[in-house]
Amino acid sequence: MRRELYGPDHEAYRETVREFLDREVIPYQHDWDRDRWIDRAVFARAAKAGIYALQIDERFGGSGEPDYRYRMVVCEEVARANAYSFGLTISLQDDLVLHYLLDLTNDEQKERWLPGFASGELIGALAMTEPGAGSDLRGIRTTARRDGDHWILNGQKTFISSGIMADLVVVAARTDAAGGSGAFSLFVVERGTEGFERGRKLEKIGLPAQDTAELFFHDAVVPAANLLGEEGRGLQYLMSHLPRERLGVTAKAIANTRAIFELTVQYCKQRNAFGRPLTGQQHVRFELAEMATEIDIAEAYADKSVLAFNDGELTPVDAAKGKWYVSELQKRVIDRCLQLHGGYGYMTEYPVARAFVDTRVQTIYGGTTEIMKEIIGRDIAK
Ligand SMILES: Cc1cc2nc3c(=O)[nH]c(=O)nc-3n(C[C@H](O)[C@H](O)[C@H](O)COP(=O)(O)OP(=O)(O)OC[C@H]3O[C@@H](n4cnc5c(N)ncnc54)[C@H](O)[C@@H]3O)c2cc1C
Repeated sequence: MRRELYGPDHEAYRETVREFLDREVIPYQHDWDRDRWIDRAVFARAAKAGIYALQIDERFGGSGEPDYRYRMVVCEEVARANAYSFGLTISLQDDLVLHYLLDLTNDEQKERWLPGFASGELIGALAMTEPGAGSDLRGIRTTARRDGDHWILNGQKTFISSGIMADLVVVAARTDAAGGSGAFSLFVVERGTEGFERGRKLEKIGLPAQDTAELFFHDAVVPAANLLGEEGRGLQYLMSHLPRERLGVTAKAIANTRAIFELTVQYCKQRNAFGRPLTGQQHVRFELAEMATEIDIAEAYADKSVLAFNDGELTPVDAAKGKWYVSELQKRVIDRCLQLHGGYGYMTEYPVARAFVDTRVQTIYGGTTEIMKEIIGRDIAK
């Protein structure tokens, strides 16, 4: 079936993205993985080339382009390039952090942060998870206490993507010790803040170049002017912005699943066993047929989600359906594709092997598969 998501402008943009990745990312990926660090200058070049932060208004240096299809094009090209660590950092900017900055900032904050974000000089992170609170954000224990013109933050975050690289960290902290859903607020904690320390760069099974870190706040002194939105509404803000993060996972998942599947089809056509290509075996053809069908059907849902998001109609439940289903499909398909590669699938120089470890986290971050099912199930049962 013909896919009707894109128009000529998106396809022209695809060329720009592809050319950028070929020139600025693919030649350096191996070094970044080895160094466990991405040269941050690439983000300024990416922002300048319009690879991310398109949504930011022109007066702050962006393009004022909210169409999520451009973001989808980036996901597809990143998948083609196997540039997962780079791609996740871009995704964190566009799918996580930027929306808080666009939706919740006042004029003074916009002036302060958006130009740097649009130029790629400021890298952001979002810090919700703590050692004792992941799926259940109501368990957050980091506190923020008002002290004159400042808030004093105490606590710890973990698993924070870009936690080391980030210049701006959106931090969820408890501002009312009595508890309840009105107990949280969001703060932008900037690089160099007194009492804010980065902990270990965590060792992961995949995404080696993408830093994931612990963050510590020991009487961290955050200006009152860095409160995002209204005091006490942090949990509501997190809940209302999570659908965008989940759409980001869905977009990455479908793009990557298709890219690996297509590579695998080529592999199976070229690889011979028992005197014929692997595709000469009915079992292999059935494997490919099942995957092709599931990918087409999942892609239709992902495309529909993108258009619904563009129209402001993607509900938290619909975003949860896409997130769990497509990321679980990704996990299954990549595992089957790896098997079809035989021993070569286990070699890190093959894209399927990289995808196997780099994308395993997709069913975990952004809310686990089980939590997505909770969201959907509770809605059905209410
Ligand atoms: C590489 C990586 C990057 C990340 N980046 C960020 C980031 O940038 N910012 C950030 O804030 N966080 C980030 N996270 C954290 C991530 O969002 C959490 O790990 C995730 O939400 C799960 O929380 P947890 O690890 O505490 O698991 P837990 O909540 O302890 O869950 C453990 C298991 O129990 C299941 N479970 C829990 N509750 C239920 C329930 N009610 N019903 C059924 N099953 C349940 C879960 O599904 C899971 O399988 C990242 C994590 C990783 C691994």
